[in-house]
Amino acid sequence: MDVSEIATENHQTAAVPNDRPTKNVAVLGATGSIGTATVDVLENLHRLDPQFGWRLWAVSGHRNVDCLLDIFNRASAGDWGPRRVVFSDAEAAAECNARERFSTSQQHHEHANTCQLLFGDEALVDVARSPEVDVLVAAIVGRAGLESTIAAIESGKRVGLANKETLVVAGDLVRKKLANSDAKILPVDSEHSAIFQCIANTNAEPKKLILTASGGPFRSATKEQMHEATPKDALAHPTWQMGPKISIDSATMMNKALEIIEARWLFDVPAERIDVAVHPQSIIHSMVEFDDGSVLSQMSPPDMRMPIQYALTYPRRLPCPAPELDLSQPMDLTLLPADLDRFPALKLGFEVAACGGTAGAVVNAANEVAVQLFLDEKIRFTQIVPTCQKVLENHTFESSPTLSRLLELDRWAREEACRCADMDG
Ligand code: NDP
Ligand code: MG
Repeated sequence: MDVSEIATENHQTAAVPNDRPTKNVAVLGATGSIGTATVDVLENLHRLDPQFGWRLWAVSGHRNVDCLLDIFNRASAGDWGPRRVVFSDAEAAAECNARERFSTSQQHHEHANTCQLLFGDEALVDVARSPEVDVLVAAIVGRAGLESTIAAIESGKRVGLANKETLVVAGDLVRKKLANSDAKILPVDSEHSAIFQCIANTNAEPKKLILTASGGPFRSATKEQMHEATPKDALAHPTWQMGPKISIDSATMMNKALEIIEARWLFDVPAERIDVAVHPQSIIHSMVEFDDGSVLSQMSPPDMRMPIQYALTYPRRLPCPAPELDLSQPMDLTLLPADLDRFPALKLGFEVAACGGTAGAVVNAANEVAVQLFLDEKIRFTQIVPTCQKVLENHTFESSPTLSRLLELDRWAREEACRCADMDG
């Protein structure tokens, strides 16, 4: 396993990457579930770890003006940010600019006077490349997060990667870019953070990476029950509070499929050395098996602030706003085999991880479209994965695509998914 491109510094020997007195963090997708959790973590770090000078240097949102203004006001009032506020959506930027509240805040806080409001996808890339930014937290959902994440990698930043779609779409290219830059990817996805924590201080080659999966809301459901599932049923995740896209992905277990592909590229491990185990309590975040049969795991309550903070502070560990394990109460930790028959997304994930090339971009795009069609009640829950399968089958595979080819195929796969989706089923 070659894990050289992700941060693997040994606690005893390594300097903290990007070790400067001020840690300026850009949170792209700040208005989402991961984004707001990151803002909590940063507020805490600013208070707790003054010698590092943690600041929320830039934030982006797409359409949620209220939430981005709340973050702006909160950080400005505490004098821990921000200098850039970006809306990828131009209308939202205009609305923000027109709001009394925003301009009032600018007048009230000295720091806010220097805050620029920007808009558009290019602005996301510009922020990701800004020399002032030390760490980028990639928390935009879906393929929309790709360009800014790649820009941060090209500019040698530390990237806290929540946006798994970047590696699903362009994992091979991202690895090549990492090899040619000082950038480090620190996983935010809880499973990959767990694996990273299990292997960060060992030279031993893992035999197997075992991703745990909660099983989502339909862990015990029959195929017939899943066929009848409504968006409300599918959004009701038993252990995690997440954005709508990843919640549906968890229900189909496409999220685990995307994570298999993410692990394949992040840790450079072939698909046959990745496994999935169902763990309903979401306490064991993943495991690593070594040649001697020893299995290491990382455990903590299901709260994303823990892996987010570790991606920011690695290799240091500091008190975190996430809760601690409560061992005063009995606790069951269950591990169950994954059911590839009821959850065909898993088979697809292993297949795509083994293929590489264009397969990830195509399945990711088809999945984004199919999830939206399901949320809009245009297709059934059980049609999401078959739609992705059909689009994958209908595409002409290439093993070493360029980024522009991947983006072309992303557009093609979106149209193809609309064509393939059975809207009368
Ligand atoms: P949310 O839906 O909660 O948030 C998505 C964020 O992306 C929001 O800030 C949203 O802006 C922004 N956004 C949406 N569309 C666009 C676009 N076209 N261009 C730019 N920005 C856009 O998602 P999550 O926080 O749940 O997930 C974010 C990423 O993190 C995903 O890749 C997910 O797979 C990953 N992840 C999430 C976990 C979780 O616990 N939530 C766990 C592990 C990984 P706005 O709201 O202003 O419209
Ligand atoms: Mg995960």
